[in-house]
Amino acid sequence: MINYNDITIRLKKDASDMKDEAISIWKYLHQNPEESLKEYNTSSFIENKLKELGIETKRVDNSVIGILDTKKPGKNIAIRSEIDAIPVKELTNLPFKSNKEISHVCGHDVHITMMLNSIKLLIKNIDLLQGKIFFVFESGKEERIGAKRILESGILNNVDHIVGFHVTTQLPTGVLGTKENVILSTSTAFKIKIHGMGGHISDSHNTVDPVFISSQILLVLYSIPKLIDPREIFTLSITSTHSEGSIDTIPEEAIIQGAISSITTTIQDKIKEFIKSITNTICTLHSAKCEVIFEKELPLGINHPETTQKVMKAISNAFPVIETPVSLLSDDFSFYLQNIPGTYIFIGTKNTLKDCIYPLHNSKFRIDEDIIPIGTVAIALSAIALTRDEE
Ligand SMILES: [Zn+2]
Ligand SMILES: [Zn+2]
Repeated sequence: MINYNDITIRLKKDASDMKDEAISIWKYLHQNPEESLKEYNTSSFIENKLKELGIETKRVDNSVIGILDTKKPGKNIAIRSEIDAIPVKELTNLPFKSNKEISHVCGHDVHITMMLNSIKLLIKNIDLLQGKIFFVFESGKEERIGAKRILESGILNNVDHIVGFHVTTQLPTGVLGTKENVILSTSTAFKIKIHGMGGHISDSHNTVDPVFISSQILLVLYSIPKLIDPREIFTLSITSTHSEGSIDTIPEEAIIQGAISSITTTIQDKIKEFIKSITNTICTLHSAKCEVIFEKELPLGINHPETTQKVMKAISNAFPVIETPVSLLSDDFSFYLQNIPGTYIFIGTKNTLKDCIYPLHNSKFRIDEDIIPIGTVAIALSAIALTRDEE
């Protein structure tokens, strides 16, 4: 048995010594975000860092998997960080903010940093580790495809446990949160295409105006919550409406996009039916054609009780770990959880004094850099606890 109190002191001290270098990595990544599935430079950057650390690497498209093999008997485990950024223009006042139309408003820059840093920390403290660790730097998370591709590659076939983590401004800096069983919602993206008949605005009575029709569909979609049992936990959001008309031209087509998230599949199926029937009815009324497409479905994320308990026990030696309510966040990490006993943990980064208060995907989202050593130690402790055979 190892004494977690002693090793926590050791790991915290090392992580604090490594903080400045880690922050410079985070700043670089923050300033150089790349779109989902196009993380070419980010993945090369990660691969080079892993090679510098003497770690074996594997690739699945832009995903990079670093393998740390202690050659000692123990479990095989995986830890995942996403690497992609979001199409949101950053509006923070950070001197190293992104100047592109995309930014790291989901915190994946700090996820990469904490994971690279934890690898360094674990190598320094290799005597505490057993088994083999697969550090998964996942591309294409926001497109909901990265996890599937990595699982299909077979690289994680013999993994006994998997850990995923995500920063959140719903918890204060220094606090971690998780729970057993359902932790992440199931989610489906939808796309509604309304095919009308375009024409000049002077002749609008002879057109089938898809923009007008989409406005009616939007209004009824927003009333769906009125049709659902108020005790159900779900969210239905419309996140984009698009048509390509011009000042004098009514367009041919309008597109509405959004997503449904819920913590049961039954309610999600019911909402899907409502979306289909509302769209068909309104389009028929206006003699327009429509298509309703459901795609990029993510399953429920279910934290395995044994993995979750082991990780919570190990991390709680170093930081407060609270039991969080089930989240309406969805993540393609749920695909790993369907295949490998695992756990998903939230790392709090709310700090009012530093203006770290905005939600994920908000243009002013920023992390509190004090979480870098915290996340680093938390990842290292999870790895140490899960690779050991002892109960
Ligand atoms: Zn994210
Ligand atoms: Zn995100």
